[in-house]
Amino acid sequence: MRCPKCKNFDTKVIDSRIAEDSTTIRRRRECEKCSARFTTFERMEFINFLVTKNSWEKEMYDRTKLQRSIMKALHKRMPDIEKIEKILNELENEWASNKKWITSKRIGKDVLNKLKDVDDVAYIRFASIYHNFDKVNDFIKFIKEEFE
Ligand SMILES: [Zn+2]
Repeated sequence: MRCPKCKNFDTKVIDSRIAEDSTTIRRRRECEKCSARFTTFERMEFINFLVTKNSWEKEMYDRTKLQRSIMKALHKRMPDIEKIEKILNELENEWASNKKWITSKRIGKDVLNKLKDVDDVAYIRFASIYHNFDKVNDFIKFIKEEFE
């Protein structure tokens, strides 16, 4: 686990506890170099379902991939990691309980709806990834519709 502050690889766990949803272990860590403290989350349960893409290709759901695109949208917005983790846990439970597979479109839409409550800028950024805007005008039109 890399220190988010100095990028050092040696960190020690100073506390770990099971989060309220009982499927996640929350760990407090401390960097051995700069002493920065941060929190990580570990899922106990393996959530397993297929994602169908627009082309009808199927792939295994990949939390890391989804999380990466959310964090990209939250870049420099001081994201509340705990909140994002909680949102993902909730959504994953929903997705996994419904069917054996879920469309990538639905995933994007659900995340988008949740981000709306977290951060306006992140919401817009994620929307631009999700809707795959290729023209500036499409993007401006979308923002107008959402915020007018
Ligand atoms: Zn550090």
